[in-house]
Amino acid sequence: MMPPSLSADLSAVLAQILTNVQELQADYKTLSEKVRIYSVCIIPDSVVDINKKKSTVGEKWGNRIVLTTYPMQSGIDPIPMQWGAADPRVRGPVVVSRSLSTVRKRNAVGAHSGSYGIYHALAVAIDELNLNHKPDFTNTEPPVDIGPFPQWGDPDKIVAMDPFGHLAPWLFKDHIDDGVEIRPTIAITKAHMRLWEIEDEVKKGKLRVDGKVVLNDHGDLSVTKVAVEPVWYLPGVAKRFGIDEGTLRRALFEDTGGSYPELITRPDIKVFLPPIGGLTAYIFGDPANTADPNCRLALRVHDECNGSDVFGSDICTCRPYLLFGISEAVKEAQNGGSGVVIYFRKEGRALGEVTKYLVYNARKRMGDSAAEYFTRTENIAGVKDMRFQALMPDILHFLGIKKIDRMLSMSNMKYDAIVNQGIPIYERVPIPEELIPEDSRVEIDAKIHAGYFTSGKVLTLEELSSVKGRQWEDVDH
Ligand SMILES: [Zn+2]
Repeated sequence: MMPPSLSADLSAVLAQILTNVQELQADYKTLSEKVRIYSVCIIPDSVVDINKKKSTVGEKWGNRIVLTTYPMQSGIDPIPMQWGAADPRVRGPVVVSRSLSTVRKRNAVGAHSGSYGIYHALAVAIDELNLNHKPDFTNTEPPVDIGPFPQWGDPDKIVAMDPFGHLAPWLFKDHIDDGVEIRPTIAITKAHMRLWEIEDEVKKGKLRVDGKVVLNDHGDLSVTKVAVEPVWYLPGVAKRFGIDEGTLRRALFEDTGGSYPELITRPDIKVFLPPIGGLTAYIFGDPANTADPNCRLALRVHDECNGSDVFGSDICTCRPYLLFGISEAVKEAQNGGSGVVIYFRKEGRALGEVTKYLVYNARKRMGDSAAEYFTRTENIAGVKDMRFQALMPDILHFLGIKKIDRMLSMSNMKYDAIVNQGIPIYERVPIPEELIPEDSRVEIDAKIHAGYFTSGKVLTLEELSSVKGRQWEDVDH
């Protein structure tokens, strides 16, 4: 038996040793974490193969989760950005990545690739994608020159895309060489396309083969395509809608389940890459012509309708009007002008296909009538349209378009948005009657009654009630 006093002394000594050991373990953990971050930042992939085993959550992003950051926080050092500056070096790159080498330098909230950003996250989660993968942009440059145009240097004219987005890897190479992750938000390419309606027009002699735009009697078309991911300059977006920036930030934060806390905590960061679909511009003829005021321009702005555009649903006029737009754009290009078709991923008036199909069912079950067309959508979605065209004209400014000779759209919302941006529209061209599928009369007559442009008849409310689509009994088989 030890004397009680010695036992007490020993206990105290043992307790002290235990404390020291615990502190040492804590120091070791902190130190090893620092070494890990340091090595990930400076050791090239060729030396460290981090794919050789599944990486842990801590190895990917560090053990400490940074929920949000604040301006002036220690270590936070965003790359300066001056939206609307004509000189890209003054404007600065869009930096949004939270990779270890870039997280402190971010000057934007959100993630690249619009809605596909979530697939990127999934690829990282299952170790299909190395977080330190460095994109190789060799030979990805645009095959044609677009711009720069004075519109690119106007913070009021372009607010929903990055006008330097197609040149980012080359304009901001210095930053990339410093380890900052910068990705393009626009890509431009050239292609051929074949559509049976165009082939049919060539066969019927309505469209001629010129070897440049229409390449052969199959109606193969030569086209320049511009894919654009959304990049929102928040003060500019708020201004377009006539609201204050704080309201916009709060709505984006709250209505996405609090997904982007930095919309609230980082008022110094003005750019947001939203998780939404982008757009594609199809340019027929020489792309340089779009910005030339001496060249005529035909334009169709089309919002996605997958059911009609791709799968031939006859409940609306979407594909027929789209193809009419392409055909007219091609003719304008063949005559020495330019034809542009812009395709926005705003399915079902930006309400999505689920809401759209619910509306279809309600319409057909309740006796599909043009007089009730918008009411069905409003009953379900609370609004009749969420496309809000105010941001749409950005792509026109990007392409340097200053006027539109032929607008292949009847939408008063698109017309107003473009004209409000200072781009005059000289002629509006409705869809020809013979291209309107019978079951889509309900849609087109309701839209014309609500203000869509027509050179034909605007029906009264009473007449609208007599415009009926295919009834549920006809659909339900
Ligand atoms: Zn449609």
